[in-house]
Parts: sequence; structure tokens; C-alpha cells
Amino acid sequence: MDNQPMPRNIVVIGGVAAGLKSAAKVRRGDPHARITVVERGEILSYGSCGMPYVVAGDIPSIDQLMMTPAGSMRNAGFFKATKNLDVLTRTEALRIDRTLKTVRIRALTTGEESDLPYDKLVIATGSTPVRIPFPGVDLGNIFPMWHPYDARDIRTLLEAGQVKNAVIIGAGLVGIEMAEAFHRWGVHVSIVEMQDHVFPAFLDAEAALAIEKYAGEKGIEIRTQEKVQRFEGEGVVKSVVTNKGTLPADVVVMAVGVKPTSKLAQEAGLLLGVSGTISVNEFMQTSDPDIYAGGDCVENTHMVTGRKAFVALGSIANKHGRIIGENICGANVKFRGVLGTVVVRLLDLNIGKTGLTEREAKEAGYEIVTTLTTGHDRAHYMPESKLITIKLIADARTRKVLGIQAFGEGEVAKRIDVMAAVLTFGGTIDDVFDIDLSYSPPYNNAIDNAAVAANTLMNKISGRFKGISAIEAKEKLASPKTVFLDVRTPEECKTVRLAPCRNVTYIPLGQLRSRMAELGKEDEIVAFCKISLRGYEAECILEGEGFTDVKVLEGGVAAWPFECETVEKEKTE
Ligand SMILES: Cc1cc2nc3c(=O)[nH]c(=O)nc-3n(C[C@H](O)[C@H](O)[C@H](O)COP(=O)(O)OP(=O)(O)OC[C@H]3O[C@@H](n4cnc5c(N)ncnc54)[C@H](O)[C@@H]3O)c2cc1C
Repeated sequence: MDNQPMPRNIVVIGGVAAGLKSAAKVRRGDPHARITVVERGEILSYGSCGMPYVVAGDIPSIDQLMMTPAGSMRNAGFFKATKNLDVLTRTEALRIDRTLKTVRIRALTTGEESDLPYDKLVIATGSTPVRIPFPGVDLGNIFPMWHPYDARDIRTLLEAGQVKNAVIIGAGLVGIEMAEAFHRWGVHVSIVEMQDHVFPAFLDAEAALAIEKYAGEKGIEIRTQEKVQRFEGEGVVKSVVTNKGTLPADVVVMAVGVKPTSKLAQEAGLLLGVSGTISVNEFMQTSDPDIYAGGDCVENTHMVTGRKAFVALGSIANKHGRIIGENICGANVKFRGVLGTVVVRLLDLNIGKTGLTEREAKEAGYEIVTTLTTGHDRAHYMPESKLITIKLIADARTRKVLGIQAFGEGEVAKRIDVMAAVLTFGGTIDDVFDIDLSYSPPYNNAIDNAAVAANTLMNKISGRFKGISAIEAKEKLASPKTVFLDVRTPEECKTVRLAPCRNVTYIPLGQLRSRMAELGKEDEIVAFCKISLRGYEAECILEGEGFTDVKVLEGGVAAWPFECETVEKEKTE
């Protein structure tokens, strides 16, 4: 007599990140379960995040996105052989019957319908790209850049030499990654963004404007505060008409965001959350305890504010999948929440963010204090050292870190990740200084850039450092009432200067003590240098001599997001 319990039926809808991660995790915890994964598309478990790099030519083809590190193709046969999962591709889940505990499915190749019984069901239906129905949107060569086939088709056009002009709509994560991809092919790229600046969802203006300046210098045209009106062409797109002009376009990428794919859940009567997401508890269970959901389709909790949020990221989808798999196997693992941590590359520039932006922090009711600091990412004398700029946002009352943004040609991701850890554990700016980070000249400075940012913020709170943001300073630059004090060496000043420079007084730091009489003690003075470290020293010297209104330009010339006068290019500092 066989006393083995009946194997459980586990059904997973969606076969990419959250879906297959949860299925594989269940298999590790329950060797006997009957696990079926239902996927509408014909390919599975691909790394969507790698798609822009297929277009760029870094990766030979979309096949690499579906391969294991050992070179096996992750297809239905692979999942059957290695994990004993039954993966049904080209199969759509049509509806969920929660009373009978079945999922009605349709094989898309034959049209045949059947019911799959489940004991536990996982909804991992992901997200769908937003498609704005502009006139002409059905013309050829307009892509959402959402599925590997989009990447494959764009790459084919590029290889055939059919693309001279690419227009990207939306300057978010995908839009910027695609700008890099096209730029690598020598294609002229325009990005049309209706908001005031790039990365409107995750950078504040001073960081975003600095990125726009960099992109412009590289020949990428950023067109903010501009709205698309229609596409024109015959069969295929030829131009994009906006409220400000007509842009030639051989290919268009519509990267205007995604929405959660939650129709199945909604029709099954499951509770929905913000922005049409599926509501889940911390164990990733929906309002029906036998149905779990994870990935882009679900609601998350922001770890800083505690508010509900729609955050569609592969990092999160994979974590959800793991937790769902564990919990189906009886563990009680909680998903702690999200910070919206992102890193993205634009050519040589690294960009990242975690936690709240200044705008979000204000909206959430915090009394905030911010700073922007620029510095070398490792010992400045190492030939490979590069600058990075960090914007740090903290709660003025509790000193808790609320968010960080960073950009520069140096190592950004490490600082973002360290600060994501600080945010996860509710750390303060004082805690950032206390972390015992590693140091060796090829890797870091004796005091890490994030700790420098935290120290600067402490100095700001105590009144020792009086910073002024580039955006505020720009307003003053044109006015004769404010003295801009450039304390760089004459050689440095020859290469690049703030524009217009008529209100700028040039006194190298080493001469400041002897030439102080050139400045008025009651004047409003904005001191700066390349990164504003010497600017801060100038503030200390002048205040020590009774000057009453000295501020420091945060980030210095290196992070100045506006036009500069470039005299001659040479490496300084
Ligand atoms: C170009 C690009 C770059 C990105 N870069 C990054 C990055 O650098 N870092 C990062 O963290 N994230 C990145 N992301 C986001 C990341 O790819 C997604 O967050 C992740 O793929 C979500 O995984 P998922 O399993 O929740 O959903 P999806 O990947 O959307 O998969 C859901 C699957 O469910 C299937 N499905 C839906 N409904 C049904 C149904 N009724 N029946 C059967 N099947 C169904 C769909 O066909 C789909 O295959 C990027 C995304 C894109 C598009």
C-alpha cells in the first residue's frame, strides 16, 4: 500500500522572470508537485533587461538572453529535463475559476481549450507597454521595445543600414538605454519627452539637467517639454510630428511606460491595488490565499514611505518569484518592500537612484535637507579615477536617509547599492559615515563618496556648510548683486568657465588670504572650484574673517548642468 500523499498541482501563469523563478523554487522545495507553467508567447525566461544591449550590438543575438551561463537554451525541453516543469508555450490563460480551482487555457496554435486544476496558483503576468494611439501609430518600424522580438527586429534594420534617424518617445530607463544603443550605430538619436527633464520619475532637475548636457555633448538630441502629435509615413514611419516640429524617423521606439497586466486577476474577483496592480500581502498572497502573484503585475510597498507603489523591475520580479516559491512550500517568508533602486548607463555615464527623490520626499510630507557633492570615485591619483556626483536627501528632523541619486563616469552602482542597504535598514546620515567600507586606491577613497555626501549634509544641518544648488545659483549668475568666486588655478580657469562669466571673480584658493580685500564683507559670495571642495575651504576662510554671506556652489563646475564657456580642453585636477 502506497502512503505517498497526492502530489499537489501548482499552476503558474507567465513564463519570464517572476513566473519561472517561482516554479523553479517550488520544485526545489517539493520534488513531487505537478508544476505547469502557462506562457502566451513562444519564448521563455529571457533577460528583458539585456534587450538594449542586443540592439547596441554588445550581445550577438536575443538567443543569449535565454541561455544559462553554461550555454543551455532555457526552453520547454530544458525546464522539463532539468526541473521537471511542464511549460506550455503559445498557451493563454483565459480565466480563473476560484470555486473549482481551475484555470481555463487555450492552445494558441490549435485553438483547443482545456482546464488545469490547481491547489496553488501563481499569477506572474507581468506588464504591458503603454501604447498611445497617436495618428499613424500602426505604421511599420514603430516599436514598444518590450519583447526580445522588438530588439531582434530593430537590430535587423540597423544591420541592413536602414536607420539614419531614430526617435525615442520617453526619456525614462528604456528610452535612455535605447539612445545609447542607436548612438553606438552612428544613428542620429532624438528623445522626445513631454516632462521638464529626462528621467522625470527618478531624478531631480539638477541631476537630470547634467545628464541632458552630457547627452547633448555626445550628439544625442534631448527634446524636453515637447509632445508627439502624430506619425507620418507610407507603410513605414518616416517622421514624427510634435508640437515643436517634424523629426525625420526611420525607426521609432515608444518607451512611455508600462501598465500591470492584471485583467485575469480582476475578472477572477481578486483585490486590486494602486495603478491597476494586483494587491498582495507581504507573503505575496492575493486576496485569495491559494493564489499568489508577483512581478510587474503586483502592488509593492515603498520601504521609506510605507506607501503602496507600482514599480516594474526585474530585480523585484525575481525576488517575488523566490518568495512565492518558498511560501508555496510552507515557509513564511515576507517580502519587505521596494526602494525603486535603478542603475542605467548612457555611453560613458553611469546613473543611479534609490529611495525618494526630492519631489517625492516633499510630497510625502518630509522636511528635507539635501546636498550635491562631486568627487573622484577612487584615489584621485589613480589613472582610472573618474568623477561622480551624488545628491543625498535626508529628513532634517530624524537625519534618516530618504534617497540618493548619483551620476558620473566613475563607479556609481556601488554607492547606490550601499545606500540602498542604508535605506533598507532605516539608517541615518550618521550611520553612513559609520559603515566600515573597504579602501584601497584602485577601488575607493579613504572616505567613500557616499560618506562624504553624508558628512556634507551633517555640516549643512549644523550650519557650517552653506550650499547653493546650481539651479538657484544660475538665477544669480546673471545678476551683479552676487559675486561668483572661482578659486581654481588660472590654468583650470582657462579650460572651462561658468557662463556668462562677467560676474565671476577669479582668486585661486592659495591667494585668497592675501587678496581678500578685493571682496566686500557684506557681499553675497558664491564660492566654487571644480568640485567645490576648495570652494568649501574658501567659505571657511572668508567666514573666519567676518564675511557674512558666503555660499558654496554644490558640485562645482564639474556638475554645473548649464552651458559653460570652454576655452581649451586639457586634463586638470
Ligand atoms: C528594455 C527593457 C529593459 C529593462 N531593464 C531593466 C533593468 O535594467 N533592471 C531591472 O530591474 N528591470 C529592467 N526591466 C524590467 C524587467 O524586464 C521586468 O520588470 C521583468 O521582466 C518583469 O518580469 P515579470 O515576470 O513580472 O513579467 P514579464 O517579463 O512581463 O512576463 C510576463 C509574461 O506573462 C505572459 N502572460 C501575460 N498574460 C498571460 C496570460 N493570460 N496567459 C499566458 N501568459 C501570459 C506574458 O506573455 C509574459 O511573457 C527592463 C524592461 C525592459 C522592457
